[in-house]
Amino acid sequence: CGIVAYVGNREAYPLILKGLKRLEYRGYDSSGVALLENSELNIYKKKGKVSDLESELAGKHLTATIGIGHTRWATHGEPNDVNAHPHYSNNRRLSIIHNGIIENYASIKQNLIGKGHKFLSDTDTEVLIHFIEDVQKETGATLEAAVRLALKEVVGAYAIVVMSVDHPGQLIAARKGSPLVIGIGEGEFFFASDATPIVEYTKDVVYLDDYEVAVISDGKLSIQHLESTKETIPYIQKLEME
Ligand code: GLU
Repeated sequence: CGIVAYVGNREAYPLILKGLKRLEYRGYDSSGVALLENSELNIYKKKGKVSDLESELAGKHLTATIGIGHTRWATHGEPNDVNAHPHYSNNRRLSIIHNGIIENYASIKQNLIGKGHKFLSDTDTEVLIHFIEDVQKETGATLEAAVRLALKEVVGAYAIVVMSVDHPGQLIAARKGSPLVIGIGEGEFFFASDATPIVEYTKDVVYLDDYEVAVISDGKLSIQHLESTKETIPYIQKLEME
């Protein structure tokens, strides 16, 4: 139900944790983070409060400067540690956080199981990240293009952020029906379900529209419509809240 993601020069974990706490008011049953450091994807998730996740991770040396975090309100699969987000692909190189519902996940899942994919959770979200992996493998497309191709096949609502071991420094986000805000700082970027986790770091935000895909790569933000490869000029707004 809540999304927070970060890429920049600061330590991502404390920032994401704080952001997830700011989003607690939206309601949730579990939380998790994925951090990318030295070509390693580390995922930590826990049923219960964000503070339960925090206690579990207390004392760990988490210095990654890119990461994604999530508070989940279960729609597919009971609230437990395994069904909590982030989820990852079959090859463990892609991870995802997702708010919303992938309505046609069952048929996509059957198809992927036929291709040898192994699923760990009961969620619709895990199916989406395996699907993106499969599209990339089948088409040889870039990750960004694979995300777009996969999303064109998806029925439902989503705000997602995808992070890949193969592209450290890159985050790909998209929305349809669920909110997503991008915060633009000095050499750093934030994604969140609303501006509350972002406002203390920057006042410059872009509200992503339905069917838009945002890519942060090499310290630059680009936004495209799902149906076209033409770039949209980001409409940067100033936050006025304190
Ligand atoms: N449908 C997804 C799940 O059940 C995401 C739920 C959410 O928006 O938190 O895991």
